[in-house]
Formats: sequence, C-alpha cells, structure tokens
Amino acid sequence: MSNKQTTLTNYEQNTLLQFDKENVWHPYTSMSEPLPSYLVESANGVMINLASGEQLIDGMSSWWSVLHGYNHPVLNKALQDQAAKMSHVMFGGLTHQSAITLCEKLIRLTPKGLDKVFLSDSGSVSVEVAMKMALQYQHAVAAKKQMKLTKTKLLTVKNGYHGDTFAAMSVCDPVTGMHQIFDQVLMQHYFAPAPRIKFGETWSNDEMVELAKLFADHHNEIAAFIIEPIVQGTGGMRFYHPEYLKACRELCDQYDVLMIVDEIATGFGRTGKLFACEWADISPDIMCLGKTLTGGYITLAATLCSNHIAKTISDGEAGCFMHGPTFMGNALACAVANASIDLLIENNWQSQVKKIENTLTSLLLPLANNARVEDVRVLGTIGAVECKQTVNVANIQKRFVELGVWIRPFGKLIYIIPPLIINAKQLTNLVNAIATVLDEDECFNPKFKN
Ligand SMILES: *Cc1c(COP(=O)(O)O)cnc(C)c1O
Repeated sequence: MSNKQTTLTNYEQNTLLQFDKENVWHPYTSMSEPLPSYLVESANGVMINLASGEQLIDGMSSWWSVLHGYNHPVLNKALQDQAAKMSHVMFGGLTHQSAITLCEKLIRLTPKGLDKVFLSDSGSVSVEVAMKMALQYQHAVAAKKQMKLTKTKLLTVKNGYHGDTFAAMSVCDPVTGMHQIFDQVLMQHYFAPAPRIKFGETWSNDEMVELAKLFADHHNEIAAFIIEPIVQGTGGMRFYHPEYLKACRELCDQYDVLMIVDEIATGFGRTGKLFACEWADISPDIMCLGKTLTGGYITLAATLCSNHIAKTISDGEAGCFMHGPTFMGNALACAVANASIDLLIENNWQSQVKKIENTLTSLLLPLANNARVEDVRVLGTIGAVECKQTVNVANIQKRFVELGVWIRPFGKLIYIIPPLIINAKQLTNLVNAIATVLDEDECFNPKFKN
C-alpha cells in the first residue's frame, strides 16, 4: 500500500464522512447501520486515491463502467471541448453532431438489424424504454390486425438483473430482487429457470425444455423475452452456454415474441466479444447499452431496435414512441462516449481483454483449491470467486483497502472486472489480495463486527 499527500485535513475528512454516514444514502446500504464508506480524493489510471492517503488498485471499474482508466487525457479533452460549445441542449426539435456521431457508431458496431437508437439517462431507463417499445409495438400490431391486445407480459429467466426502476425490477430475479415487498404494485411476468449449462460445458437441448414450454403455453400473452446475454451479472456472475442464447432467438422467432438483450454490463468487449450476443451469433430485436458506454465518465444509455419495430410503433395510434427524457442525447455524455469508443478501437481492445483473461485464467482459477471456495470462473475481463459462505462485507472491504486494492464483494461472490488498461503486476496484486482474504476468518464470519 502506497501513501500519498492529501489536501483534506483529518478533521475535514471526519466531518465529511460523519455527514455522509448520517444523511447520505448509498446503494443497497442501511441508513441505521451503514457500512463504512471510504472518502475518495481523486482517481487516475487504475488507481483510486483515498483522502486518507491510501492508493488502491481498482478491481471494479466503478461497477463495470470504466474502460480506459480514470482521468484519461483524451476523455477529459472530449468533455472540455464539448463544454466549450455547449454541455446540453434539449433533444426535442434540436440535434447535434456528438449525438448523431454516437448513434452512427452504435448502429455500425452492434449486431446487424439494429438501426434505430433511443438515447436515455441510465441503464434502468434504457430497460424501461426497451419494455415500453415492445409493449407499444404489440399494441400497434394488434390494432392493425383489429385483434384484441393480449401480448402484455414479459418472459425472462431467474437470476437476472435489469435495473432498479419498477418495470426493470419486475423482470429481475424475484428472490434476490425481493419481489415480495412490492407484490401489490409490481407487474407480473413469466419466469423460466435460470440457464444451468455453463459456458464451456457440453451443450444439451434438454436445457430448453422448461423455457420452450413457457413459450408454447403463453406466447399469446408475451410481448417480449428479456435476457442478459451469456453473463448473468448482478444475479450471481454466472456464465451460460451460447447455445442457450441461440435457442432463445429461435423460440422468439417461432412464437412471434420480441427478443430484448440487455448488454448493459457485457457490452464493449467485457466478455471477449464486442457484444456478448456475438458468442451466439444472434441479433436481438431490441438491445440495451449503458455502463461502459461513456468509459465510466457520465451516465448515458441507449436502446437500439430494428427498423420494423420503429416503423410499426410510429405508424400506430400514438404516431410516435411515448418517451422523451429531459436530458436525452446529453452532449457531454455523447462526446465522451464517442471518444471512449474510438479509444477502444485504437487501443486494440481484443488484445487488452485477452491479456487480462490469460492472467486471470492462470492466477485466479487455482484459487478453486481453497477450502472456502465453491467455484472460480473467468470470461474476458470478468473473474469471479464464488465462496461457500457469505462474505462479511465491512471486514473484507477493510482488509482489501489495507492490501491496497478496491474490490467490493456481494453475497458469496468476490469478483473483479478491472479497467482494460490494468497491467500484469496490478492484476496480480488484485488476485493476491483475494487469495489473502480467503484465508482470513474475520472476512467471512458474520460474528466479527468492526
Ligand atoms: C447495471 C445494470 C442495469 C442497470 O443500469 P443502471 O445504470 O444502474 O440503471 C441493467 N441491466 C444490467 C444487466 C446491469 O448490469
């Protein structure tokens, strides 16, 4: 652990942290018994610099969003240049080069057949938009055929995660998403068992039996099927067989159900393909992008769809798609997204990802021999250690900080998803830190309070 001169006094740090603890919500954290938060002063490259002086190697990419590191000169310049022109203008009746260029890039880079782009503020909103698109599409189709609208539900798989807003939440895993709390207000959808055959295992068509039955029994009620491609992220860091995704595409075609693929976590190279759909060589009808879209700089998301869906909605009763966020097409966000995508290509992301994958494969997989470990998985830049026990988050986090790394586990999962620019030594330090805490009782035992 290296220490650095900081600008805030101890008194100032403590005052800020005390206010934070008493008044500021943090994600999925109790306000009555909050987990500690660490005060960050700056971040540079792969390092997060705490106000207390520690410098931490970032293993999380700030929840899958950072690609090229923090405080990147090229991304900073894109923001500054855009700010000097305008940071934002309304997207109703106005448009601008940064948004147009971004949409052109997204259409060109994503799987074929996705030709219309809807920009929005965050991943969850892009999922709301995707679901609304599917429902408005089915409404227009039924009206055109002068039939009663019956396709008003979604079908998905268990262990999924699609965001925290209400429609997105309604297709998250019912157990980990605590659907019982929102029982009275949540839309009810159909859930198939989660994919079981793992990435790299032998495929068997038996895997599709339950899902195929749900399609067969309920397709008249189902507007769309939604799934995270290849990687079920927040629902457990599970990597499933590409044949599963391919079979989903076939079922959607067979039963006239739209396919929504949520690439918010997997997009832009994270799994070793630019988009995880490419593992199965499929194109969805609707695709959601977010997280890495701006290289981790500003919130931005996109929902892409086919010409056919856009035309059907536009020719329907409303005459337009019923959505339009205030900050749609935000110029700062689009400018930095353009710069981030250009860097991805220039930096040869394939070789960056391959290097990380090779190092994780050789260093992380052997941790499977640790008595505390249930399973270790690696795909692209994602490395996950599934433990037999739930971790003690406060204690394990403290130990990681002492070891000079930033890794935030949840449940039984200690996972890393580092920025693409991480070097071999930094990556080795991340893995060594995981190996160290696996041998420490206080990182797992809920009895140890700090
Ligand atoms: C993070 C995530 C979301 C939600 O994105 P937010 O920007 O947090 O709203 C949706 N789907 C997937 C697969 C995600 O990983």
